[in-house]
Amino acid sequence: MTFSVHGISVGQGLGGAANGVATGRAVKIVSSRTNVAHYFITADQVQAELDRVRIARDAAVREMMSASKEAPQELSAIMDVHLMLLQDETLADGVRHFIEERHYNAEWALGAQLEVIAAQFDEVHDPYMRERKRDLEQVVERLIAQLTDARPQRAFIQQDHSQHESLILIAHDLSPADMIHFKGDVFSGFVTDVGGKTSHTAIVARSMGIPAIVGAKSASHLVRHDDWVIVDADAGVLIVDPTTDILAQYQQKQSDGLVAWQAHLANQSKNAMPAALLADDGTAITVLANIELPSDAAAALAAGAQGIGLFRTEFLFMGRAELPDEDEQYAAYRDVVLAMKGLPVTIRTIDIGADKPLDARHGYADSQPNPALGLRAIRWCLAEPAMFLTQLRALLRAAVHGRIEVLIPMLAHESEIKQCLLMLERARLQMGALDVPYGEIGLGAMIEVPAAALIVPIFLKYFDFLSIGSNDLTQYTLAVDRADESVAHLYDAMHPAVQFLIESTIKQCNAAGKPISVCGEIAGDESHTQSLLAMGLRRFSMHPTQMANFRRAIKK
Ligand code: PEP
Ligand code: MG
Repeated sequence: MTFSVHGISVGQGLGGAANGVATGRAVKIVSSRTNVAHYFITADQVQAELDRVRIARDAAVREMMSASKEAPQELSAIMDVHLMLLQDETLADGVRHFIEERHYNAEWALGAQLEVIAAQFDEVHDPYMRERKRDLEQVVERLIAQLTDARPQRAFIQQDHSQHESLILIAHDLSPADMIHFKGDVFSGFVTDVGGKTSHTAIVARSMGIPAIVGAKSASHLVRHDDWVIVDADAGVLIVDPTTDILAQYQQKQSDGLVAWQAHLANQSKNAMPAALLADDGTAITVLANIELPSDAAAALAAGAQGIGLFRTEFLFMGRAELPDEDEQYAAYRDVVLAMKGLPVTIRTIDIGADKPLDARHGYADSQPNPALGLRAIRWCLAEPAMFLTQLRALLRAAVHGRIEVLIPMLAHESEIKQCLLMLERARLQMGALDVPYGEIGLGAMIEVPAAALIVPIFLKYFDFLSIGSNDLTQYTLAVDRADESVAHLYDAMHPAVQFLIESTIKQCNAAGKPISVCGEIAGDESHTQSLLAMGLRRFSMHPTQMANFRRAIKK
């Protein structure tokens, strides 16, 4: 039966084109289990993957049998149920199906079959059966733990999925770290129950140029694994189980979008350097790129970026047990500098916290009462000086390969600015003492807390440039959590108070002759372009996927 679910449109089609449409089979992922690898195996790996499941199951059975001998009677009854479920054919058959027919890896197949069985349990309104569903989840978690112990590293989804049907990821929630792991081009669209337009998961989806809908509330309950679905990100609607006619219409729309995008790419590579963009007053407009990973620099260059305006380095730190050390960070920053071939590169210091937590194993205060107002971004860095110094040293070392503009997020106090300067000096002294060469950096601050926007002259005293983080500036000015779909209708960068802060920051920077950019989502959103230009903004930093549309809008 065809039905639709409404949510908040965050993605766009390729190149930010209007055709924000994707069709495909639903793949449901439960967020607690996204911490394991999801990837396609090849036909000749099927047997090995089936063996992995068998070995994990045997190990789990052995472990439970020996634990059950020592367990008190009440517990051993539960363990018997778990043992029975572990050896149940419905689970085994389903997992085999997903591995043999769909070429999912073992962990993914287990998660997928769990969804199928859990949906059957949900249909039975019996408290006893609900309990059994929890048992089943625990059994699958135990199996996944066995598998992950044997192969702990997270895998990226394979790039080549040409032999597979197009897939749409449906999840209750996805962390930005999970989302970045899906940058491998496997999914054609994303839908999550929760999230706001500028949540970081939405931002990563947008950077992928993939139609996505967040805040679709009950989508993950209503859609079944393998259902045909249509993500219409233009309208913010998910259509489930469409009729063949509707599906064909949308598939046509999707392929039209693809053809238009390929034509655009061909045209772009012919004109390697896009023509300079000029505002009405003849001044030049600079188009910079927002990136999450060093490998994104190539897409930035290909889209004609005139530099990197924001490299969100926290993506190097999320979703992993070991934080990157100085050498790993140095290599990442150096790679971006080298990839950009002399163009300006702005690297933001780690902005962890709120909807970008570190892996739970680091004991980062996930449980802060109000994480968006808590120990986030520069506050966390200053509370963890060893970590911050490591990052600063890595940045200074990478600057040997070309000047780096270092950008500090979420500053509000002059005392924080002074601490940052001291830390930078200390990093330089440490390297001088060790005779490690380091290079020139520029220093900039993000204006994303209203308090900062209200004391711009103080910021201008210390910094070489400023960059407006309109995503957070909107969140903090309006006291609206950017990741909470229940207040998404109140999240509005066009609110006069937000516009006032943006305009006054731009004007004061321009008057002082210091570079000012906007790197929040409004920079690549055409509905804001004219007003930002009128305020005097000339530096826009956006996803590479948005640049083509942005240029078209300016030329118009
Ligand atoms: C912003 O807040 O506008 C910004 C660019 O930073 P982030 O989205 O990473 O918080
Ligand atoms: Mg921000």
